[in-house]
Amino acid sequence: MKKIAILPGDGIGPEIIDEAVKVLKAMKLPLEMSSAPVGGAAYEASGHPLPEATLKLAQESDAILFGAVGDWKYDTLDRPLRPEQAILGLRKALGLFANFRPAICYEQLTHASSLKPELVAGLDILIIRELTGDIYFGQPRGRRTATDGHFPGAEEAYDTMRYSKPEIERIAHVAFQAAQKRNKRVTSVDKANVLETFQFWKDVVTEVGLQYPDVALDHMYVDNAAMQLVKEPKRFDVVVTGNMFGDILSDEASMLTGSIGMLPSASLNSQNQGLYEPSHGSAPDIAGKGIANPLATILSAAMMLRFSLGQESAAAQIEAAVQKVLAQGLRTADIHSAGTTKVSTVEMGDAVVAAL
Ligand code: NAD
Repeated sequence: MKKIAILPGDGIGPEIIDEAVKVLKAMKLPLEMSSAPVGGAAYEASGHPLPEATLKLAQESDAILFGAVGDWKYDTLDRPLRPEQAILGLRKALGLFANFRPAICYEQLTHASSLKPELVAGLDILIIRELTGDIYFGQPRGRRTATDGHFPGAEEAYDTMRYSKPEIERIAHVAFQAAQKRNKRVTSVDKANVLETFQFWKDVVTEVGLQYPDVALDHMYVDNAAMQLVKEPKRFDVVVTGNMFGDILSDEASMLTGSIGMLPSASLNSQNQGLYEPSHGSAPDIAGKGIANPLATILSAAMMLRFSLGQESAAAQIEAAVQKVLAQGLRTADIHSAGTTKVSTVEMGDAVVAAL
């Protein structure tokens, strides 16, 4: 029996999680699911966005299915009490260093992309972002009075970009192994022409690549990668990069598909324990209206089955069911267009269950 922590969170979180849980239950797999509050909901209930009981449940589970957290009403709270801190706290406590963001353009939704249909039809790329290192976490950082540079004596701020060899090695292994299950190509994105850290990144990824002779590795500068993603996105299979470049490129790639309500994500640690969540936020503007698209969360549950629970065929079955409801013309409001049938959050979940 595998243990799943269900953390619905705020805004549309509970609505979309309900549909994903419905789909998981319909699969009749040996899963023990337990819920706990997180984010603003947890702050309201117990004064902290990541209460100890929630963290304990997450730590003791094989995987976490996470809705979304946040609401503008919490923007005035002290930073450690804001809902978003719950995700950072979970990433840190569980050592979730590998972030998977697939960008898949479903045939039926090609028109929703801002790019020409022929550029995105059939798009299926996987961005793997290192999530716990790089300039976002590097020390030292802060503000001080400059003693050198262009303006000695002026106030300045600074951050530190750094990666250790084991940090690069483990994310490189994740990328090569993911590529082995796909089209066997890895593009490592760096800025080796300017940054010492990313020349090192490139060297270490190249070295790890020697262990995967069946996977083709190429290297690309981040500025070129940003350009290629909108010029010829289908040239990519797996893209692996550092925390900051991955932050930017994964959002760029997700927009190629044109539909934020469709995109799942996973963050894994070295034991394959993972946190699975839609790429979008808590959408407070539509919360409680029953119109949110639950497919990103349902597809996140499929990723959970594949990456943390070893249930590849169940994952593929859910993904096929999602394709089927799209082919049937069913659409929530965010992806609705002329000639398709508009359905609610619950109706979309029911349709996926029926299509399984
Ligand atoms: P958002 O992703 O919540 O919403 C952006 C827009 O997309 C909104 O118009 C929303 O209605 C729409 N949208 C998002 N998901 C949708 C879905 N499933 N179906 C239909 N429409 C959908 O981003 P935002 O409005 O900038 O942020 C809202 C809150 O979410 C903030 O408090 C932010 O901090 C938080 N947030 C949380 C996460 C997370 O939990 N991982 C990620 C991003 C933002």
